[in-house]
Amino acid sequence: MMKPTFKRVLLKLSGEALGGDQGYGIDPKTIEGIAREVKDVVECGVQLALVIGGGNIFRGLAASSKGMDRASADYMGMLATVINSLAMQDALEKVGVDTRVQSAIAMQEVAEPYIRRRAIRHLEKGRVVIFGAGTGNPYFTTDTAASLRAMEIGAEAILKGTKVDGVYSSDPKKDPNAVKFSTLTYIDVLKKGLQVMDATATSLCMDNSLPIIVFDITSHGNVKKVVCGETIGTIVKG
Ligand code: UDP
Repeated sequence: MMKPTFKRVLLKLSGEALGGDQGYGIDPKTIEGIAREVKDVVECGVQLALVIGGGNIFRGLAASSKGMDRASADYMGMLATVINSLAMQDALEKVGVDTRVQSAIAMQEVAEPYIRRRAIRHLEKGRVVIFGAGTGNPYFTTDTAASLRAMEIGAEAILKGTKVDGVYSSDPKKDPNAVKFSTLTYIDVLKKGLQVMDATATSLCMDNSLPIIVFDITSHGNVKKVVCGETIGTIVKG
């Protein structure tokens, strides 16, 4: 049996990861698949927190480019992440994983407020904590929320689940000469403008030496491989 190398991690998923092939909305089969992957990891004794984006429902920047007030649009984006968090909570509980959703925007009827110490306590009890509503602030992204929360809860790494199996020099779907990196430094990511996380999130990880592991979430068993230290995907560190 594979043994985990991490005790506590934060898994970041884009909203699109829940949309399956269509990339938007919430695909029941896809979310169930992800819930099962998470269950496998939790059953190994790894404490796991989740941050899910909202891009499958609403993106603030896209709406503001069409004329909407940016801050209002961003608040809508944050609410979209809460919708995804509740969907993931439902999927996880259906496969028998205990969860709590904590929201950075108060909405006591649907989620707990974000309380760092309480989140840590849930994790210690083996519950998956899903952090909704991003950072609670407009002009930020859920990548930044993931970095911030990972630091706050003392996660050893951010696992960034994407539809691609790592970070490439250019888009592998368009460029046959694209090269996959197995390791990168934070500075490489920032200087080359690589699509790992946005600059705010990357600098936050760099300043606090928090590794980011980018891997393919669509391939079965990959989350477990990453927490067991198998070198798949791309690792970004100092
Ligand atoms: N958002 C925000 N503040 C945050 C996190 C998210 O304003 O701290 C908004 C922003 O409008 C963003 C949307 O929520 O476009 C959805 O998040 P994101 O784009 O990060 O989702 P993903 O691309 O990961 O699906």
